[in-house]
Amino acid sequence: MNFKKRLMTPGPTDIPPSVLAEACKPIIHHRTPQFRKILTEVVAGLKRVFQTNNDLLIFPAAGTGGMESAVVNLCSPGDTILTASCGNFGNRWTAIAKAYGISVEHYEVEWGGESDPQEIKKRLAAHPEIKVVFTTLSETSTGVDLDISAIGNIVAQTPAVLVVDAISGMGATPMKTDEWKADVVIAGAQKGFMIPPGLAGVTISSRAWELAKTSKIPKYYFSWEKAHKAMTAEALANTPYTPSVSLIMQMAESLRLIEEEGMENIWKRHARMAQSVRSAMEALGLKLFATGRPSNVVTSVCVPEGVDGIKLFKTVRDTYGITLAGGQGKLKDRIFRVGHLGYADDWDVVAAVAAIERALNEQGYVMEIGAGVTAAEKVLFAAE
Ligand SMILES: *Cc1c(COP(=O)(O)O)cnc(C)c1O
Repeated sequence: MNFKKRLMTPGPTDIPPSVLAEACKPIIHHRTPQFRKILTEVVAGLKRVFQTNNDLLIFPAAGTGGMESAVVNLCSPGDTILTASCGNFGNRWTAIAKAYGISVEHYEVEWGGESDPQEIKKRLAAHPEIKVVFTTLSETSTGVDLDISAIGNIVAQTPAVLVVDAISGMGATPMKTDEWKADVVIAGAQKGFMIPPGLAGVTISSRAWELAKTSKIPKYYFSWEKAHKAMTAEALANTPYTPSVSLIMQMAESLRLIEEEGMENIWKRHARMAQSVRSAMEALGLKLFATGRPSNVVTSVCVPEGVDGIKLFKTVRDTYGITLAGGQGKLKDRIFRVGHLGYADDWDVVAAVAAIERALNEQGYVMEIGAGVTAAEKVLFAAE
Protein backbone atom coordinates (compact mmCIF):
# COMPACT_ATOMS: atom_id res chain seq x y z
CA MET A 1 0.00 0.00 0.00
CA ASN A 2 1.16 3.50 -0.75
CA PHE A 3 0.51 5.40 2.45
CA LYS A 4 -0.54 9.01 2.48
CA LYS A 5 2.44 11.29 3.15
CA ARG A 6 2.53 13.18 6.43
CA LEU A 7 5.26 15.49 7.67
CA MET A 8 5.39 15.15 11.43
CA THR A 9 8.71 16.84 12.07
CA PRO A 10 9.26 20.00 14.11
CA GLY A 11 9.54 21.92 10.85
CA PRO A 12 8.88 21.92 8.03
CA THR A 13 5.27 20.97 8.70
CA ASP A 14 2.45 20.07 6.35
CA ILE A 15 0.75 23.04 4.72
CA PRO A 16 -3.01 23.66 4.55
CA PRO A 17 -4.39 23.43 0.97
CA SER A 18 -5.56 27.05 0.90
CA VAL A 19 -2.05 28.18 1.92
CA LEU A 20 -0.46 25.99 -0.77
CA ALA A 21 -2.79 27.49 -3.36
CA GLU A 22 -1.48 31.01 -2.65
CA ALA A 23 1.93 29.96 -4.02
CA CYS A 24 0.33 29.23 -7.41
CA LYS A 25 -0.93 32.77 -7.88
CA PRO A 26 0.89 35.06 -10.32
CA ILE A 27 3.68 37.10 -8.72
CA ILE A 28 2.73 40.69 -8.12
CA HIS A 29 5.40 43.35 -8.11
CA HIS A 30 6.57 44.27 -4.64
CA ARG A 31 6.72 48.04 -5.22
CA THR A 32 2.96 48.29 -5.69
CA PRO A 33 0.20 49.40 -3.32
CA GLN A 34 -1.35 45.95 -3.91
CA PHE A 35 1.61 44.08 -2.42
CA ARG A 36 2.40 46.69 0.21
CA LYS A 37 -1.14 46.44 1.54
CA ILE A 38 -0.71 42.66 1.97
CA LEU A 39 2.65 43.17 3.69
CA THR A 40 1.14 45.77 6.04
CA GLU A 41 -1.62 43.35 7.01
CA VAL A 42 0.85 40.50 7.49
CA VAL A 43 2.95 42.61 9.86
CA ALA A 44 -0.16 43.51 11.88
CA GLY A 45 -1.29 39.87 11.96
CA LEU A 46 2.16 38.65 13.03
CA LYS A 47 2.20 41.19 15.87
CA ARG A 48 -1.05 39.70 17.15
CA VAL A 49 0.46 36.20 17.10
CA PHE A 50 3.68 37.43 18.78
CA GLN A 51 1.43 39.33 21.25
CA THR A 52 3.49 42.47 20.91
CA ASN A 53 3.24 46.16 20.13
CA ASN A 54 6.97 46.29 19.40
CA ASP A 55 8.37 46.80 15.90
CA LEU A 56 8.28 43.70 13.74
CA LEU A 57 10.59 43.07 10.78
CA ILE A 58 10.46 40.29 8.20
CA PHE A 59 13.54 38.91 6.46
CA PRO A 60 13.56 36.43 3.59
CA ALA A 61 15.77 33.92 5.41
CA ALA A 62 15.82 30.69 7.37
CA GLY A 63 15.00 31.14 11.04
CA THR A 64 18.74 31.12 11.71
CA GLY A 65 19.03 34.30 9.62
CA GLY A 66 16.69 35.97 12.10
CA MET A 67 18.91 34.69 14.94
CA GLU A 68 22.04 36.03 13.26
CA SER A 69 20.30 39.39 12.74
CA ALA A 70 19.82 39.64 16.51
CA VAL A 71 23.51 39.01 17.17
CA VAL A 72 24.82 41.45 14.54
CA ASN A 73 22.38 44.23 15.44
CA LEU A 74 22.71 44.03 19.23
CA CYS A 75 26.34 43.15 19.85
CA SER A 76 29.80 44.60 19.35
CA PRO A 77 33.10 42.67 19.12
CA GLY A 78 34.45 42.04 22.60
CA ASP A 79 31.00 42.17 24.28
CA THR A 80 29.99 39.48 26.74
CA ILE A 81 26.66 37.73 26.34
CA LEU A 82 24.90 34.92 28.22
CA THR A 83 23.47 31.91 26.44
CA ALA A 84 20.94 29.78 28.33
CA SER A 85 20.92 26.52 26.38
CA CYS A 86 19.22 23.15 26.80
CA GLY A 87 20.26 21.63 23.50
CA ASN A 88 21.33 22.02 19.90
CA PHE A 89 19.38 25.22 19.16
CA GLY A 90 20.44 26.92 22.38
CA ASN A 91 24.01 26.09 21.43
CA ARG A 92 23.48 27.76 18.06
CA TRP A 93 23.35 31.13 19.86
CA THR A 94 26.80 30.46 21.26
CA ALA A 95 28.11 29.41 17.84
CA ILE A 96 26.78 32.55 16.10
CA ALA A 97 28.13 34.85 18.82
CA LYS A 98 31.56 33.21 18.71
CA ALA A 99 31.66 33.62 14.92
CA TYR A 100 31.49 37.39 15.54
CA GLY A 101 34.21 37.50 18.21
CA ILE A 102 31.78 37.90 21.12
CA SER A 103 32.70 36.38 24.43
CA VAL A 104 30.07 33.96 25.69
CA GLU A 105 29.06 33.00 29.21
CA HIS A 106 27.62 29.64 28.20
CA TYR A 107 25.08 28.11 30.57
CA GLU A 108 24.04 24.68 29.33
CA VAL A 109 21.99 22.12 31.25
CA GLU A 110 22.10 18.40 30.66
CA TRP A 111 20.08 17.73 27.48
CA GLY A 112 16.49 16.83 28.29
CA GLY A 113 16.50 19.31 31.18
CA GLU A 114 15.37 22.91 31.35
CA SER A 115 17.32 26.13 32.06
CA ASP A 116 16.85 27.29 35.65
CA PRO A 117 15.82 30.98 35.76
CA GLN A 118 17.58 31.31 39.16
CA GLU A 119 20.86 30.19 37.58
CA ILE A 120 20.43 32.90 34.93
CA LYS A 121 19.89 35.42 37.72
CA LYS A 122 23.06 34.23 39.48
CA ARG A 123 25.19 34.48 36.34
CA LEU A 124 23.85 37.94 35.52
CA ALA A 125 24.73 39.07 39.03
CA ALA A 126 28.23 37.58 38.77
CA HIS A 127 28.82 39.13 35.32
CA PRO A 128 27.28 42.62 35.25
CA GLU A 129 29.06 43.21 31.91
CA ILE A 130 26.59 40.86 30.14
CA LYS A 131 24.64 42.89 27.59
CA VAL A 132 22.33 40.28 26.11
CA VAL A 133 20.77 37.00 27.25
CA PHE A 134 20.00 34.58 24.41
CA THR A 135 17.65 31.66 24.94
CA THR A 136 15.01 29.43 23.33
CA LEU A 137 11.23 29.06 23.79
CA SER A 138 10.93 25.44 22.60
CA GLU A 139 14.21 23.53 22.45
CA THR A 140 13.30 21.43 19.44
CA SER A 141 16.31 19.09 19.65
CA THR A 142 15.26 17.71 23.05
CA GLY A 143 11.53 18.51 23.18
CA VAL A 144 11.64 20.87 26.16
CA ASP A 145 9.89 24.23 26.69
CA LEU A 146 11.56 26.96 28.74
CA ASP A 147 9.86 29.25 31.24
CA ILE A 148 10.29 32.49 29.28
CA SER A 149 7.97 34.37 31.63
CA ALA A 150 10.27 33.70 34.62
CA ILE A 151 13.44 34.39 32.59
CA GLY A 152 11.91 37.63 31.24
CA ASN A 153 11.14 38.91 34.75
CA ILE A 154 14.71 38.25 35.86
CA VAL A 155 16.42 39.80 32.84
CA ALA A 156 14.13 42.88 32.96
CA GLN A 157 15.57 43.72 36.40
CA THR A 158 19.04 44.05 34.87
CA PRO A 159 20.36 46.28 32.06
CA ALA A 160 20.62 43.20 29.78
CA VAL A 161 18.31 42.62 26.82
CA LEU A 162 16.48 39.28 26.42
CA VAL A 163 16.45 37.55 23.02
CA VAL A 164 14.22 34.49 22.51
CA ASP A 165 14.43 32.00 19.67
CA ALA A 166 10.74 31.13 19.32
CA ILE A 167 11.22 29.61 15.87
CA SER A 168 9.47 26.34 16.65
CA GLY A 169 7.21 27.47 19.49
CA MET A 170 5.60 30.58 18.01
CA GLY A 171 2.04 29.98 16.91
CA ALA A 172 1.93 26.60 18.68
CA THR A 173 2.63 27.20 22.35
CA PRO A 174 2.12 30.44 24.33
CA MET A 175 4.69 33.16 23.70
CA LYS A 176 3.49 36.44 25.21
CA THR A 177 6.24 38.74 23.99
CA ASP A 178 5.29 41.98 25.78
CA GLU A 179 3.77 40.45 28.92
CA TRP A 180 6.87 38.25 29.40
CA LYS A 181 9.25 41.17 28.72
CA ALA A 182 11.04 39.50 25.81
CA ASP A 183 12.92 42.29 24.02
CA VAL A 184 13.68 40.44 20.82
CA VAL A 185 11.72 37.41 19.62
CA ILE A 186 12.41 35.44 16.48
CA ALA A 187 10.05 33.14 14.60
CA GLY A 188 10.33 31.13 11.40
CA ALA A 189 7.89 30.25 8.64
CA GLN A 190 7.92 26.47 8.40
CA LYS A 191 6.82 25.57 11.93
CA GLY A 192 3.76 26.96 13.71
CA PHE A 193 3.03 29.24 10.77
CA MET A 194 2.41 26.32 8.38
CA ILE A 195 4.02 27.90 5.29
CA PRO A 196 7.09 26.74 3.33
CA PRO A 197 10.55 27.60 4.75
CA GLY A 198 12.12 30.97 3.97
CA LEU A 199 10.83 33.76 6.23
CA ALA A 200 12.11 35.01 9.57
CA GLY A 201 10.13 37.43 11.76
CA VAL A 202 11.90 39.52 14.42
CA THR A 203 10.35 41.84 17.03
CA ILE A 204 12.37 44.58 18.70
CA SER A 205 11.55 46.42 21.95
CA SER A 206 12.64 50.00 22.69
CA ARG A 207 15.28 48.62 25.09
CA ALA A 208 16.67 46.49 22.27
CA TRP A 209 16.67 49.49 19.89
CA GLU A 210 18.71 51.46 22.45
CA LEU A 211 21.34 48.72 22.53
CA ALA A 212 21.24 48.32 18.74
CA LYS A 213 22.28 51.98 18.40
CA THR A 214 25.62 51.11 20.03
CA SER A 215 26.30 47.95 17.98
CA LYS A 216 29.60 47.93 16.08
CA ILE A 217 29.38 44.65 14.18
CA PRO A 218 29.32 45.39 10.41
CA LYS A 219 25.97 44.54 8.77
CA TYR A 220 24.12 45.21 5.57
CA TYR A 221 21.41 42.73 4.50
CA PHE A 222 20.40 42.04 8.09
CA SER A 223 20.47 45.68 9.22
CA TRP A 224 17.41 46.21 11.41
CA GLU A 225 17.67 49.94 10.83
CA LYS A 226 17.37 49.63 7.04
CA ALA A 227 14.49 47.16 7.31
CA HIS A 228 12.70 49.29 9.88
CA LYS A 229 13.04 52.44 7.78
CA ALA A 230 11.46 50.75 4.78
CA MET A 231 8.76 49.22 6.96
CA THR A 232 7.71 52.51 8.58
CA ALA A 233 8.68 55.41 6.29
CA GLU A 234 5.23 55.55 4.69
CA ALA A 235 1.72 54.43 5.57
CA LEU A 236 2.14 51.14 3.72
CA ALA A 237 4.99 48.80 4.72
CA ASN A 238 7.91 48.27 2.37
CA THR A 239 11.13 46.24 2.37
CA PRO A 240 14.65 47.42 1.46
CA TYR A 241 15.23 44.50 -0.95
CA THR A 242 12.95 42.16 -2.89
CA PRO A 243 10.76 40.29 -0.40
CA SER A 244 9.60 36.67 -0.89
CA VAL A 245 6.32 37.77 -2.43
CA SER A 246 4.71 34.32 -2.57
CA LEU A 247 5.69 33.44 0.99
CA ILE A 248 4.18 36.71 2.22
CA MET A 249 0.96 35.90 0.35
CA GLN A 250 0.99 32.44 1.93
CA MET A 251 1.59 33.99 5.34
CA ALA A 252 -1.44 36.24 4.83
CA GLU A 253 -3.63 33.18 4.25
CA SER A 254 -2.05 31.29 7.14
CA LEU A 255 -2.70 34.23 9.48
CA ARG A 256 -6.32 34.22 8.31
CA LEU A 257 -6.60 30.54 9.33
CA ILE A 258 -4.85 31.24 12.65
CA GLU A 259 -7.25 34.08 13.48
CA GLU A 260 -10.22 31.94 12.47
CA GLU A 261 -9.20 29.17 14.89
CA GLY A 262 -8.06 31.59 17.61
CA MET A 263 -4.74 31.60 19.46
CA GLU A 264 -6.14 30.06 22.66
CA ASN A 265 -7.71 27.19 20.70
CA ILE A 266 -4.48 26.63 18.79
CA TRP A 267 -2.48 26.41 22.02
CA LYS A 268 -5.07 23.96 23.41
CA ARG A 269 -4.90 21.82 20.26
CA HIS A 270 -1.12 21.57 20.50
CA ALA A 271 -1.22 20.78 24.23
CA ARG A 272 -3.79 18.04 23.56
CA MET A 273 -1.80 16.47 20.70
CA ALA A 274 1.40 16.56 22.79
CA GLN A 275 -0.29 15.01 25.82
CA SER A 276 -1.76 12.31 23.63
CA VAL A 277 1.62 11.36 22.08
CA ARG A 278 3.35 11.34 25.47
CA SER A 279 0.66 9.11 26.93
CA ALA A 280 0.82 6.76 23.91
CA MET A 281 4.60 6.38 24.09
CA GLU A 282 4.48 5.59 27.80
CA ALA A 283 1.70 3.04 27.23
CA LEU A 284 4.05 1.30 24.78
CA GLY A 285 6.69 1.10 27.51
CA LEU A 286 8.86 3.80 25.90
CA LYS A 287 10.67 6.41 27.96
CA LEU A 288 10.21 10.11 27.22
CA PHE A 289 13.52 11.96 26.86
CA ALA A 290 12.44 15.31 28.36
CA THR A 291 13.05 15.69 32.06
CA GLY A 292 12.25 19.42 31.91
CA ARG A 293 8.83 20.83 30.93
CA PRO A 294 7.85 18.66 27.93
CA SER A 295 7.25 20.61 24.73
CA ASN A 296 3.85 21.02 23.10
CA VAL A 297 5.57 21.20 19.72
CA VAL A 298 7.59 18.00 19.57
CA THR A 299 7.86 14.88 21.73
CA SER A 300 11.26 13.25 22.12
CA VAL A 301 11.24 9.53 22.83
CA CYS A 302 14.16 7.32 23.89
CA VAL A 303 14.90 4.45 21.54
CA PRO A 304 14.36 1.29 23.64
CA GLU A 305 16.97 -1.41 24.18
CA GLY A 306 17.14 -3.84 21.24
CA VAL A 307 15.53 -1.42 18.76
CA ASP A 308 17.47 0.27 15.95
CA GLY A 309 16.28 3.88 16.13
CA ILE A 310 17.45 4.87 12.65
CA LYS A 311 15.73 1.84 11.15
CA LEU A 312 12.53 2.61 13.08
CA PHE A 313 12.54 6.18 11.77
CA LYS A 314 13.12 4.93 8.18
CA THR A 315 10.35 2.31 8.37
CA VAL A 316 7.84 4.86 9.63
CA ARG A 317 8.84 7.23 6.83
CA ASP A 318 9.46 4.92 3.86
CA THR A 319 6.85 2.25 4.53
CA TYR A 320 4.15 4.14 6.41
CA GLY A 321 4.52 7.59 4.86
CA ILE A 322 5.02 9.52 8.10
CA THR A 323 8.20 11.56 8.43
CA LEU A 324 9.28 11.85 12.05
CA ALA A 325 12.58 13.40 13.12
CA GLY A 326 15.61 11.54 14.42
CA GLY A 327 17.89 12.84 17.14
CA GLN A 328 20.32 15.69 16.53
CA GLY A 329 24.03 15.78 17.37
CA LYS A 330 24.89 13.46 20.22
CA LEU A 331 21.29 12.20 20.38
CA LYS A 332 21.36 10.95 16.76
CA ASP A 333 20.39 7.30 17.34
CA ARG A 334 19.30 7.64 20.96
CA ILE A 335 15.94 9.35 20.44
CA PHE A 336 13.30 9.88 17.81
CA ARG A 337 11.02 12.90 17.77
CA VAL A 338 7.35 13.21 16.85
CA GLY A 339 6.48 16.69 15.63
CA HIS A 340 2.88 17.71 16.33
CA LEU A 341 2.63 21.31 15.30
CA GLY A 342 1.13 23.58 12.72
CA TYR A 343 -1.28 21.92 10.32
CA ALA A 344 -1.76 18.79 12.46
CA ASP A 345 -4.79 17.31 14.17
CA ASP A 346 -5.97 14.37 16.26
CA TRP A 347 -5.95 11.94 13.33
CA ASP A 348 -2.37 12.78 12.41
CA VAL A 349 -1.34 11.98 15.97
CA VAL A 350 -3.25 8.68 16.02
CA ALA A 351 -1.75 7.72 12.64
CA ALA A 352 1.77 8.49 13.84
CA VAL A 353 1.30 6.41 16.99
CA ALA A 354 -0.12 3.50 14.94
CA ALA A 355 2.83 3.64 12.52
CA ILE A 356 5.34 3.70 15.40
CA GLU A 357 3.61 0.61 16.88
CA ARG A 358 3.90 -1.25 13.58
CA ALA A 359 7.55 -0.35 13.11
CA LEU A 360 8.36 -1.39 16.69
CA ASN A 361 6.50 -4.65 16.19
CA GLU A 362 8.53 -5.37 13.03
CA GLN A 363 11.70 -5.13 15.10
CA GLY A 364 10.38 -7.69 17.59
CA TYR A 365 9.72 -5.12 20.33
CA VAL A 366 7.30 -6.69 22.80
CA MET A 367 4.12 -4.70 23.47
CA GLU A 368 0.38 -5.01 23.22
CA ILE A 369 -0.68 -4.00 19.72
CA GLY A 370 -2.98 -0.99 19.95
CA ALA A 371 -1.89 0.00 23.47
CA GLY A 372 -0.39 3.26 22.17
CA VAL A 373 -3.37 4.12 19.99
CA THR A 374 -5.75 3.41 22.87
CA ALA A 375 -3.81 5.68 25.22
CA ALA A 376 -3.65 8.41 22.57
CA GLU A 377 -7.38 8.18 21.93
CA LYS A 378 -8.20 8.27 25.65
CA VAL A 379 -6.46 11.65 25.93
CA LEU A 380 -8.14 12.97 22.78
CA PHE A 381 -11.59 11.76 23.87
CA ALA A 382 -11.22 13.27 27.34
CA ALA A 383 -10.28 16.62 25.81
CA GLU A 384 -13.32 16.79 23.55
C1 LIG B 1 14.04 24.93 13.38
C2 LIG B 1 14.65 25.71 14.45
C3 LIG B 1 15.67 26.65 14.19
C4 LIG B 1 16.30 26.81 12.84
O1 LIG B 1 15.45 27.25 11.88
P1 LIG B 1 15.99 27.30 10.36
O2 LIG B 1 14.83 27.84 9.61
O3 LIG B 1 16.38 25.89 10.00
O4 LIG B 1 17.17 28.19 10.36
C5 LIG B 1 16.15 27.39 15.25
N1 LIG B 1 15.67 27.25 16.49
C6 LIG B 1 14.72 26.35 16.79
C7 LIG B 1 14.22 26.24 18.19
C8 LIG B 1 14.18 25.56 15.78
O5 LIG B 1 13.22 24.66 16.07
